[in-house]
Amino acid sequence: MAIIPASGCTFCHEGAKMVLFITGVCHRSCWYCPLSRERKGKDQVYANEHPVSSPDEAIAEAKNMRAKGTGITGGEPLERLDRVLWYARRLKEEFGPGHHIHLYTSRAPTEKELSDLTGIIDEIRMHPPMKCWKGIETSEYIRSAEMASAMGFETGFEVPALPEIDLLIPALPHLHFLNINELEWGETNAPEMRRRALVLEDSVHNAVEGSRRWCRNICRHEKVYLCSSAFKDSVQLRKRLIRIAETTARPFDEISSDGTIIYGRIEGALSVPEAVRELGTGMFEEREGALETAWWILVEQGDEIEGTKAIIERYPNRGIIVEVTPL
Ligand code: SF4
Repeated sequence: MAIIPASGCTFCHEGAKMVLFITGVCHRSCWYCPLSRERKGKDQVYANEHPVSSPDEAIAEAKNMRAKGTGITGGEPLERLDRVLWYARRLKEEFGPGHHIHLYTSRAPTEKELSDLTGIIDEIRMHPPMKCWKGIETSEYIRSAEMASAMGFETGFEVPALPEIDLLIPALPHLHFLNINELEWGETNAPEMRRRALVLEDSVHNAVEGSRRWCRNICRHEKVYLCSSAFKDSVQLRKRLIRIAETTARPFDEISSDGTIIYGRIEGALSVPEAVRELGTGMFEEREGALETAWWILVEQGDEIEGTKAIIERYPNRGIIVEVTPL
């Protein structure tokens, strides 16, 4: 198994890191930007998949998943430095100094910015845009990384796997780690991907074909870690969903091996059907104008239950609906 050079990744591997998306605003326009249409350019905070408007709401989400740390991302978080400090400070106050916080930025933070972040952010992950990779050794990113290390931050780069990735080899002696994300196809970068004749590796994941091959050489270095698209989906996201489901699932919600929850929904019932009532208190709930209960009672005794019935699979804690199966 590959060694994980960045401390922030350890909790991420357990699915125990909350993703705090601080803003969709960003001054750059990287052709490979993976942001969705929903988030790109919008000044909205999300804690995992949920829009939030205060640190207290983010803390509630962190509690839902028993988070051991937080990854602050964007957009460009430093476009909203005060907001970063507000949220990160509250998270540290609530969960203690051991709650590990890493910050992504596409900027080379200044001495003033670094000093504002000291004691609140543990790890800085800079993303020098690709156009800065040539001559990286003499760039402001290396100067900033060295300053950050001297000030006590764990410091590294986090970049997508692009054909030019070996240009970052001279940066390695100046960093604690280099994280490489497998290049991912998304709704907003698809036109650029096609223009460059790139294609998807398979029909299951978003990984772009060739992406892992481009970083084969640089990945031989002990400070380099490649985070694959499949890993993000099948381990990182899955484990995070399971943690949230374990905390928030109702007695009748079934937790799937993917971390989604499965329950039954009845619409148009005038009262709680007898078969559902017999399951006992806590085994049904009225939500959003429908009755929700164990999915299996609708399958086993559906003939005795009036109304429009369906099995719902969704992310836990009222997350996105993955599948609706009418009965
Ligand atoms: S810096 Fe990051 S958020 Fe901004 S355009 Fe580039 S990839 Fe997207």
